[in-house]
Amino acid sequence: MRPFSIAPRLGVAALLVAIAATANAQSRPTTLAATRASTTDLRAADQIVDAMIRDHALVVRDAQRDTLMPDRVHERLDQYVRGVRIVGGDLTRQTAPDGTVSVFGTLHTDPGIGLTPTLSNEDAATAIAKAAGGDSNGSGPELVVLPLSDGYHLAYRGQAIVAGEILNLFVDAHTGGVLQRYSDFISEVGVGTGAYGDTKKVSVLASSGAFVADDRLRPSEITTYDMKGNLSRMSALYAGAQTPAASDIATSANNVWSDSTVVDAQVYAGWYYDYIFKRFGRQGLNGANLRIALFTHPVRLADIGSAPNSILGTYYVNATFCGSCGPNGRGAAQFGEGAPRNFFGGNVEIKPFSASLDVVAHELTHGVTATSARLNGFPFSEAGALNEGFSDIFGVSTAFAYETPGNAPLQASYIQGRDLTVPGAAFVPGYGGYLARTMFNPLVTGNPDHYLLRNIGGEPHYNSMIASHAFYLAIEGGVNRTSGRSVAGVGAANREQIEKSFFRALTALMPSSSTFATARVTTIQAARDLYGAGSGAERAITQAWDAVGVQERTAPTATLLPNPSTSSASTAASCNVSPAWILGVTVSAGSSSLRITGWSSDDFNAAGAVIDHSVYTASSFASQFNSCGPGSTTILAQTDACSTTCWILNPGVTGGSTQITFAAVDDAGRTVTFSTPRVTLR
Ligand SMILES: [Zn+2]
Repeated sequence: MRPFSIAPRLGVAALLVAIAATANAQSRPTTLAATRASTTDLRAADQIVDAMIRDHALVVRDAQRDTLMPDRVHERLDQYVRGVRIVGGDLTRQTAPDGTVSVFGTLHTDPGIGLTPTLSNEDAATAIAKAAGGDSNGSGPELVVLPLSDGYHLAYRGQAIVAGEILNLFVDAHTGGVLQRYSDFISEVGVGTGAYGDTKKVSVLASSGAFVADDRLRPSEITTYDMKGNLSRMSALYAGAQTPAASDIATSANNVWSDSTVVDAQVYAGWYYDYIFKRFGRQGLNGANLRIALFTHPVRLADIGSAPNSILGTYYVNATFCGSCGPNGRGAAQFGEGAPRNFFGGNVEIKPFSASLDVVAHELTHGVTATSARLNGFPFSEAGALNEGFSDIFGVSTAFAYETPGNAPLQASYIQGRDLTVPGAAFVPGYGGYLARTMFNPLVTGNPDHYLLRNIGGEPHYNSMIASHAFYLAIEGGVNRTSGRSVAGVGAANREQIEKSFFRALTALMPSSSTFATARVTTIQAARDLYGAGSGAERAITQAWDAVGVQERTAPTATLLPNPSTSSASTAASCNVSPAWILGVTVSAGSSSLRITGWSSDDFNAAGAVIDHSVYTASSFASQFNSCGPGSTTILAQTDACSTTCWILNPGVTGGSTQITFAAVDDAGRTVTFSTPRVTLR
């Protein structure tokens, strides 16, 4: 074993230490990003992977030939601890004829917890259904090790159907208590003739005198179901609880298709199939021509006035993708019905959600992700935000492949979902926001354009724009408004270089627990593989991630946002003292886990003089920093702890600044202190 005196960084060095550590060493995840940039690190990573495969600690889930570089093979491997899968412990390994090219992923040291559950499998299925308040779904629950920010839990993972929705639940394997829950429906909106009167060619099947929206011209069957406003039938088919009949498939008596919602869904799904095949050589969503199932008309537009908010938000003003839904239980998309002009005020009309090519392509990209990177949907994870970001990226990229660039309806732009409203990309007053996302300048639609502006544990579409804006900058170039850093893009004529780099990263290189930092290193690696080290594409992607503030996570950091302007945050008025400020504070562990030993704050008046120095205990940290995961004094490597709290200055002081400092002990037993920037409160 060589000594490691170098500064900690993403890489294999830390892992070597961890693997060699004794059994009672503190357990932790380690992020691997080993490439040919360091052949020593890469060889070491390769040896660890091979040794773990021999020990059945890593199991190959999937191995596929690279569709863009035919001499390359990509393996996806899942980590098991004494026979139990560890959630988010997985990696990708890329191999060329002359050896390994890259290894990316997260491995955990043995968590040192007992792996014998108190609850039986049957008990767990009951506990999951009971906790969800519904019926269990799918095969029996799986015993897993679940890493949360406060440490490791032995858990059962299972699904339940609740009011037509599929929920994923993790329950404690001893008590049955819920550790984590999230919907398997990925919603799009926290917010015929085609819908725009254009004519499209529809691929259909002639069936006993009628034509059905069932495309068998392409290798992947594409089926559009017309639910005719029958929501209970729709829910049952979507969740896979009932089997569709021939009469559920959209039909036309004479093959002149006048139902624009059906036409758009069927045609745009075909275009998406063609786009990912021609551009990236991928055969369908899963690379093996998985059938594409699309559900339209879940409700009747005429019923919108009496629809409760839950129906309004899911089946009118939304679209969803669900990776375990549909007739084969392997994925389906559902497109909401929209809303009539002025229903939400502002004279805005909301189109059916299949009306926008980029929205259909966005949903189907979720199908690609669900069968490749499997970016997890944990509510507070960066992987969830990346899942949305990559869907927007290939949403607009599909539009650029088929539509003329421009800002009119049916033209391609960097505004995801612009065609959902008339006028385009409109603010919807009664809904209180935009259905569109402006990748060229996320601030326009109230989203972050920089990593420091992210809302940890927040809405994934909101945080996603850090990634989709980086994609935009890598192509078009320009200056990031928050950092002031400029990017030399590859130019629109070379957009396929950036599209290929991002698609290859998503489908081949990114593991399930990817963070923004992983997206950075894998997209850079993909560009380097495809176009060479120092190529324009590699340089543009590197500059773009720099500009949006995404770097490898190494040392611990802390950020402080006064009055974060997110829908989930409370307002200063709720503090009941005036003046008060809401402080959003995030503490991020780097490559080492941290044990917080104390924290303190310093307040300054407007002239910059210290007016207060307060010291707080580690246990107050555990009770306060619980907004993006369970509160604890431990923060696992590569994860965050955060709090949203009311803050006041000394009585009578109406403005000034504040700074918060943290003290912790890292894995090596060293004391580390780090602070937020000093932030002005006015
Ligand atoms: Zn989405």
